[in-house]
Amino acid sequence: MKEIDQCPICGCEVSNRVMICKDYLVSGDDFEITACTDCGFQFTNPRPEDDKLSDYYESEDYVSHSETKKGLINRLFLMARKYTLKKKLRTVRKYSSGNRILDIGCGSGSFLDVCKSSGYEACGLEPDEGAREFALKHYGLEVKPIENFLQLEENTIDVITMWHVLEHVSDLRLYFQRFKEILDEKGTLFIALPNPESKDAQMYGKYWAAFDVPRHLYHFRQTDIKNIAEQYGFHLETALPMKLDAYYICMLSEKHKSAKSKLIRSFFKGMKSNLYARRNDKNYSSLIYVFKQDGQA
Ligand SMILES: [Zn+2]
Repeated sequence: MKEIDQCPICGCEVSNRVMICKDYLVSGDDFEITACTDCGFQFTNPRPEDDKLSDYYESEDYVSHSETKKGLINRLFLMARKYTLKKKLRTVRKYSSGNRILDIGCGSGSFLDVCKSSGYEACGLEPDEGAREFALKHYGLEVKPIENFLQLEENTIDVITMWHVLEHVSDLRLYFQRFKEILDEKGTLFIALPNPESKDAQMYGKYWAAFDVPRHLYHFRQTDIKNIAEQYGFHLETALPMKLDAYYICMLSEKHKSAKSKLIRSFFKGMKSNLYARRNDKNYSSLIYVFKQDGQA
């Protein structure tokens, strides 16, 4: 295990434990979440060593990689994803310009496929070999290993998307440095993240499915992601709700809490979360953050 002795956002050297969460998906082990005493940023700490992190993704339940259709939750997830994919594309079109799109952590390539079909020059990066093979076989997409992120040339990308991916990456600062380098000066960065200040996070506490330890290394509030992005010369253009996520996260959280999905209960809690967010600083279950480089309107 690796102890994080410095806040990845503000550099403060003290953090205190705020919660113990269980890994419900793979190991069943407990992990601690600590909060920086200075800026309040929460992160999973200690966490597995970098070369052990991939061990925690080996689950059939990890549907974004395996595309399995087993079980009601997974089937609902895939249906919702179809709708969400189209919506993501509309969002990207609305808030960015340019044709060259890079999807980091693209999984099996479903979003890239939608982009390519609507005329984008789409490339993807993904650490999981099985997911890359799936992308090639099903969509004819040649997805590159994540290591290629370091080799991309400067100013060659118009749009970077990371859909629920940044919370998984170990070296946050390296990622932001690279975003700055590879994006065209008019480029746009889209980052979707779960929100630990959402109502569903409050309702479920340690059972909240989007803590997803130890796969989620970081638990960004709106202020945290804005803070680190600004350090690299990005400003937040807007934050957009992902309302369906509330329902999905509530279903999974119910399952963690009581070993049952409790669909109706989850539905009402999801709705409660979305209603709460409307009145409370857009604290939706998940948000898409749209960043532009400074100097751009
Ligand atoms: Zn901090």
